[in-house]
Amino acid sequence: CGIVGYIGPRNVKNVVVGGLAKLEYRGYDSAGIAAIDNGNIKVVKSVGRLANLEAKLADSPVDGQAAIGHTRWATHGKPSDENAHPHQDCSGRFAIVHNGIVENYLSLREELVAAGHEFRSETDTEVVAHLIEEMYNGDLFQTMIAVGKRIRGAYALVVIAKDHPDEMIAIRKASPMIIGLGDKENFVASDIPAILEYTRDIYVMEDGEMAILRRDGVECFTLNGEPVSKEVYRVTWDA
Ligand code: GLU
Repeated sequence: CGIVGYIGPRNVKNVVVGGLAKLEYRGYDSAGIAAIDNGNIKVVKSVGRLANLEAKLADSPVDGQAAIGHTRWATHGKPSDENAHPHQDCSGRFAIVHNGIVENYLSLREELVAAGHEFRSETDTEVVAHLIEEMYNGDLFQTMIAVGKRIRGAYALVVIAKDHPDEMIAIRKASPMIIGLGDKENFVASDIPAILEYTRDIYVMEDGEMAILRRDGVECFTLNGEPVSKEVYRVTWDA
C-alpha cells in the first residue's frame, strides 16, 4: 500500500517510518522496515499500526546507509507479522517492498519451491524475493530487469541488496511511484506527501520505468534497461 525508501546520511529509520506515517491516510494492516547497515540487512515488521512497529524498533533498533519501508494492505495472505513487508530471500541477502499484486505468483512459487526455496509467508510478494535470489548473477540491475520480465501484474517494487549497500532499485509497473531528489540523498515513495518534508524536486516514474538510486544521483530506465531522461517536477503545494 505505502512504500518509502531512503538512501543518504540522515537517520534512515526516522525518514522511512516518518514517511510511512504521512501515507497512513491510505489505510494499512501492518508495517515494516529493512535497513542495510555495514553490509547486513536487518528487517523489523509488525502487524497493526505504525506505533506497534515503533515499539518493536525501540527494542530492536535499525540504522544504516539505506532503508526501505512498507505499510501493507493485504491482498494475498492474512495480516500478520510474517506476511508484513519487507520480504526476504532464503539467504537474507535481499529485501523487497511491494505494492500491488503478482498475478502469476502461484506458478512462480511452485517453481521456486521445486528449486529448493523455503517460503516464510503466504504473500504473493515473497516469490519476488526468492526469484531475485534464484536469478541473481552479481549484477543487481540486470537481475531486476530479468525478474521484471518474469512477474505479471501491477506492481511497484523497491529492492535493497547486501552486496550493493550503495544503491537501491525501484521498478514501477502500473502502481504509482515517485522519486524525491535531494543533495547527497535520494528518496522513493508511493506518493509525494511521504517525502515532502525533505525535498520538492520529484521525478514521476511512468508506467514501465525503473530507477537506480544512489546517494549522489538517480538514473532512470525502461524495464529493458534503456536510459530515460526525466524532467524534474517541482512540487509547489503543501501536504
Ligand atoms: N499483494 C501484496 C500483499 O498482499 C501487497 C499488498 C499491498 O499493496 O500493500 O502482501
